[in-house]
Parts: sequence; structure tokens; C-alpha cells
Amino acid sequence: MTSYPTLHMIIDGEKVMQGHRATHRVVNPATGETLGELPLADAADLDRALETAQRGFRIWRNSTAQQRAAVLQGAARLMLERQEEIARIATMEQGKTLVETRIEVLMNVGLFNFYAGETQRVYGRQLVRPAGMRSTVTYEPVGPVAAFAPWNFPIGNPGRKLGAPIAAGCSVILKSAEESPGSALAIVQCLLDAGLPKEVAQAVYGVPDQVSRHLLGSPIIRKLSFTGSTVVGKHLAKLAADDMKRTTMELGGHGPVLVFDDVDVDGVLDTMVAGKYRNAGQVCVSPTRFIVQEGVFERFRDGFAERAKGWKVGNGMEDGIQMGPMANPRRPDAMERMIGDAVAKGAKLNAGGERIGNQGFFYAPSVISEVPLDAEIMNEEPFGPVAIINPFGKEEDMIAEANRLPYGLAAYSWTNDARRQKRLAREVETGMFCVNTTMLGGADTPFGGVKWSGHGHEDGPEGLMACMVLKTVHEG
Ligand code: NAD
Repeated sequence: MTSYPTLHMIIDGEKVMQGHRATHRVVNPATGETLGELPLADAADLDRALETAQRGFRIWRNSTAQQRAAVLQGAARLMLERQEEIARIATMEQGKTLVETRIEVLMNVGLFNFYAGETQRVYGRQLVRPAGMRSTVTYEPVGPVAAFAPWNFPIGNPGRKLGAPIAAGCSVILKSAEESPGSALAIVQCLLDAGLPKEVAQAVYGVPDQVSRHLLGSPIIRKLSFTGSTVVGKHLAKLAADDMKRTTMELGGHGPVLVFDDVDVDGVLDTMVAGKYRNAGQVCVSPTRFIVQEGVFERFRDGFAERAKGWKVGNGMEDGIQMGPMANPRRPDAMERMIGDAVAKGAKLNAGGERIGNQGFFYAPSVISEVPLDAEIMNEEPFGPVAIINPFGKEEDMIAEANRLPYGLAAYSWTNDARRQKRLAREVETGMFCVNTTMLGGADTPFGGVKWSGHGHEDGPEGLMACMVLKTVHEG
């Protein structure tokens, strides 16, 4: 039986405990119980982390690709050995089911092993020049990275924030979400136990705005990597711009799902209902706006609602649970507000639409339909367990609805018409497009959005290159 760990920060390899510092209370979202008190960094802690990151960069930029690969592979092995312990910590502090948190550990294992291989493949280029001259294109690590990871993937987000910079030869100061610190600390610990120099990866916590202003205000930091909401992302991008720091921004989405008349409705529902309620809908690529052709609209809506009503909600630590609580009290509040607003404006409530129980932050799997465009939920990311299902006639109107919002992260379509599949893939404005599947992630696969969903990529060779800068060297 895993007990929740004592919380701390990791600065210059030292476990920094509460001492004189302010703390954040970490709560189990299934029970409302306090799990621990997380120490928050003061300015002196952050200065120390910065100075350490500068030393860490000098060390790690001179490491060999083989040394970086060995650390990443070692950390992957340790994560696998500690899979159950890390998964349990994550479920305790974030709420999602153990099945999901175990998968998150495996995602990190795959990513770290992939990047261990990619370290060997950072090839440069030699340009054609007259005899006696040489021009080469080379890649160098960008420098110390400030990485901010949210709470929705408490293991996977820190893994992404650490894997690529470490493979590239950068140092990292990670501030994962104060609401789910235990899993991130476990990942950093795997890296340190695998032999990563203590200066290279650090973990700090604090008041988010203070930490990000402090770190981004320092010339030591050369790159910002942020995952979170568009509104915070825009704010951080402006801070980074003051010092022309590089940025990778993984921001919000409002995933459209185009369902055409020619599909097997039950087959689509089997996939999409599970996709919708995964992690209680708190996923940036969550399928959100179901844009359904009229011929299958009623069957699709009713089938979705029926499955939603039978979805098994409970404490993610228990066997057989399909959906845990929401991660924090802000989310059920937002569900109540957004669904209430939609219904007040004329939407139909087909399932859920209410909290469950009187402890923790549970919200029922919900379905609303025929939702007017001026409802808040049609324009803001709901980030919760609610499917919005609206009927449409023509393909062009469905595409127009998919492209209506300023977001462009993930989009989905279901149709067996091969020509239409190609048209949709070209016309829908999105960073990731799925045709008859929801599988869009993988260690080798660039993950990222367009428009307000951000820029740059994580994962894949692109994620590694995003942590490097290009230098051309000309020799006469
Ligand atoms: P939020 O927008 O304040 O926080 C989102 C994340 O950003 C948190 O991890 C938070 O610690 C961090 N953050 C906030 N302000 C920051 C700052 N100034 N500097 C550095 N980090 C900062 O609020 P929230 O209630 O946690 O989430 C609300 C919305 O955020 C959700 O509805 C969803 O739209 C979005 N979100 C997106 C993702 C994603 O994967 N893209 C993840 C979590 C939340």
C-alpha cells in the first residue's frame, strides 16, 4: 500500500523542506482529505535554482549523446520498476483512475527511451562550398529551460517537460502544478537516481505568477515551455518576449468531432464515449463539440446519453471505476456554470448535469444537445465530462463549425467516404487530425496545435529540436 510522500522541492539536488516557507495544501480530490503540505519557493530559493541551472547547463551541454541516453534509459527503467507507486501517488493527488495513471508512467517510459535514441540522431549538415572552404550547420542545446506543467497529466506532463531538454543537453527548472506535485517529484527522482547531475533537473513550487515572473525575468533562462490555458499562455509568452526567449506553448483546445451519416453509430460511440470521459474530460485534446449529421443525430445523441448514464464514476483507486473525480473544486464549479448557462439559453440536457455525492469533486458524465452558439460552453474550453452534440446538414457547414473558434489543437472525424476524409484533413484548421480513430499521441509523434492552441511541438524528433538552436559555422 503506497502512502503519500512527504513533499519538498529539489534545488541543486537538495530536498528543500518547509522550514520558514509558506505552503500549499495538497488535497485528494476523491475524498477532500489533506494529503500533504507543499513548501513554496521564496525569491532566494528561485535565485538558487537559477544559479544552479546555469551551472547545470555548463555541465550537461558538454555531455556526450551516450551519457544523455544512458540517463534517460536508466530513468525509464526506474519508472517501470516504480510504476505502481508513482501511479498511486498520481491517482491520490489528481483523481484519475489507476488504469490511467499506470498508462501515464508507460508513456513516460516510451518517451524517455525514444529520446535516448534521438540523442544519437541530431545530425547537422555540411554545405557545398568552393574547395578549401567549409560551412556547417550544427545544433546546440538552447540553454536552461523554465518548464511549467499542469495538473491534468500529473506524470506525463512533467515527463514531457523533462525528457526533451535533457536529451538535448539543457538544464531544466520544472514547476509542475502545486495541486499534483508528488508524481512530478517522483519523475525527477528517477532521473537523479539514474545518474543525472543534480544541477540539471530541479523542481520548484510556488505562487505560479511569482515563480514565472521570477524565472522568465532572468537572462539565465533561454526557453519557456508551458502547458496550460490559452489565457495564461498568452501572458507567459509576453513575459518571454521581453527577453526574446524561445517558447513552446501547448494551450487549450475545443476539439470538434465531425460524425457523418455513413458511420456505424455504435462503433463510433464505443470509442468516443470513452474518449470523452477519459480523465473526466480534463484533457486538452478531449473530444468536445460533436458536430453530427442529421441522419444519425438522434441515434448518436441518445446512445451517448445512455452510455453516459451507465458510466461508472468513483474513487480512481478502486477497481472497475471508469471515471474519477475532477481534479480540483474549480472544475465542478465551472461545469455547473457552463452547463447551467447552456440550458438557460435553450440547450437540452440529455444526461448528467449535476454533482455526485457530498465529498470530493465528482461531477456526472454529462451530455447536452442543440446548444446555441452564444452559450459560454460553445466558445470556452469546458475541460470537463460534458459532450456537446449538435445536428448539422451539409459537410461545408460542419467544417465551418469546426473552424469557428480560435482554437486548433485536436479534431476528429468519422466517415467511411475516402474522398471526404481527404477533404476534411485539408480543410479543418488543427494541429492534429484523427480520421476514424482517437489515437493521436506517441513518443515518435509531434504533439501541438495551431491558432490559440499554441505553437511548437512536444514529443517526436520535433520536440527535441525545439530544445536546440541552430548555428552555422563558416571556415575559410
Ligand atoms: P489556470 O489557467 O490558472 O492554470 C492552468 C495551469 O497553468 C496550472 O497548472 C497553473 O499552475 C498554471 N499557471 C497558472 N498561472 C500561471 C502563471 N502565471 N505562471 C505559470 N504557470 C501558471 O487555471 P486552472 O483552473 O488550473 O485551469 C483552468 C483551465 O486551464 C482549464 O479549464 C483548461 O482550459 C486549461 N488547462 C489546460 C491544460 C492543457 O493540457 N492544455 C491543462 C490544465 C488546464
